[in-house]
Amino acid sequence: MSNNKENNLHDKMIQLTNSFNQLDFIDDQKSEEILWLGYRYEHGIGIGVELDKHKAFTHYLKSAVAGNSMGIFKVAICYRYRVGVEKNEVKFYDWIKIWFDYGKCAHCNEDNTNEAWCQTCDPDIAIQGWTSGNKVIDNSIKRFQLRIFEYERMIEWIPFDRLDNIKKIVEGGYGSVFSATWLDGIRKIESNWNYSTYTYTRTREPSSTVALKALSGSRENSLDFLKEFDRHMKCTFLDSKLKIYGLTQNTETKKYLMVFQFANNGSLHKFLRKNFQNLTWQIKLNLLQDISYDLLQIHAAGYIHTDFHSGNILLDEDINKNMRSSFSDLGLFKTACKGSSEGGIYGVIPYVAQEVLSGLKFTKAADVYGFGIIMSEISTGQRPFDGRPFDSILLLDIFRGLRPGFAPGTPDCYIELAKQCLSSDPQKRPKALDINEKLYEWNKIMNNSDNANDIKKQFLYADKIIKTLPIISPKYPDQMYTGKMINTLAK
Ligand SMILES: [Zn+2]
Repeated sequence: MSNNKENNLHDKMIQLTNSFNQLDFIDDQKSEEILWLGYRYEHGIGIGVELDKHKAFTHYLKSAVAGNSMGIFKVAICYRYRVGVEKNEVKFYDWIKIWFDYGKCAHCNEDNTNEAWCQTCDPDIAIQGWTSGNKVIDNSIKRFQLRIFEYERMIEWIPFDRLDNIKKIVEGGYGSVFSATWLDGIRKIESNWNYSTYTYTRTREPSSTVALKALSGSRENSLDFLKEFDRHMKCTFLDSKLKIYGLTQNTETKKYLMVFQFANNGSLHKFLRKNFQNLTWQIKLNLLQDISYDLLQIHAAGYIHTDFHSGNILLDEDINKNMRSSFSDLGLFKTACKGSSEGGIYGVIPYVAQEVLSGLKFTKAADVYGFGIIMSEISTGQRPFDGRPFDSILLLDIFRGLRPGFAPGTPDCYIELAKQCLSSDPQKRPKALDINEKLYEWNKIMNNSDNANDIKKQFLYADKIIKTLPIISPKYPDQMYTGKMINTLAK
């Protein structure tokens, strides 16, 4: 951006925020922290941070004034959707224009609100000209379509004959997952730099590979499966990384399927097994931060995952070849208030918190326990309790405090955090937010500090040790680690 343009932008922002008197200089790092604090106020997450939409707005505004681009976007959205501030369409458009110049809408000739996207026209266009054949399903899809604010995230009804080459890839505990070729393909925005500005064009990637998953209860009652679809959509609005493309119906079996992103690197477990010797702690900490962020989103949305294990965390490589995680199996996802485990529970025993095995209900803290088990697995490259019968003797041992171990050389701070997650007292386990912040801090150290930093030294040392450890082959087949009904000790 030229200096001149930058100055104009700054003037415009001061003009827009002249009622806002805290225009002190804020650096990038600080504006990011203020944005995050705003996010916590908006959703009421974190110790001592209660839900306060107006505080959320003022924090977004402060980070926006400091030039934080996400802050600018959030301020615009607050004005549009009345988050902690009066609805103001004019200010919404002003802030959106600052955020980026997206050209004009072909329908109303007003400024676009996003890349090749007009929030006034495009959601209305998306809900027209199609039907699944069922009004309830149509309405459910349309409800989300109206709330989506970018082309690439728009969901749609996908006729089954536009899907080809369907193959079963996972015999999931909670319904199978298939791969398929979507003939029309995933939505993409093409951006072209044209001297002083970008132009954006809508396109699709024809014949893209997608994943299909039968939704729970989709055969008996169409309304039941929509509940799972709703849960997935609610999490994508909270920025979960799993991309959903829409719904389809198998014309023969009449089953409804969700069409979503195909993870090209399979599950976390498969990825660890294949690459363990070459994975540095820097990559592992990155992955864990990602997984903890997704867990945080689920908890913030008021849900509990309840079936958290390395077989249903999917990994995908983004364009920068960074690994990204997402959850595939949200079938059992429960709302935080209803987590009853009457009549047995469903899961993979070594990942299930001990109080749940004893018959108590699922809680957010039980998800955190599962996260602790995954921390152990990422340290050792081994699945927990591999080769041991998953029987009542194992359950009793878990009660007496048995937990999976850590690889030699694993840093103490890491083991300490994992052990807190695995505490037998759910109250003593950290929250998803605490875990995410800790991992963020370690990642920052790994990326920025010099090699003399004590924590960095420990992780770098652990990298060297791993190369000297013997490779242990898994004893159990994958089948052992898919979700099953478990009889709790209460039964
Ligand atoms: Zn328009």
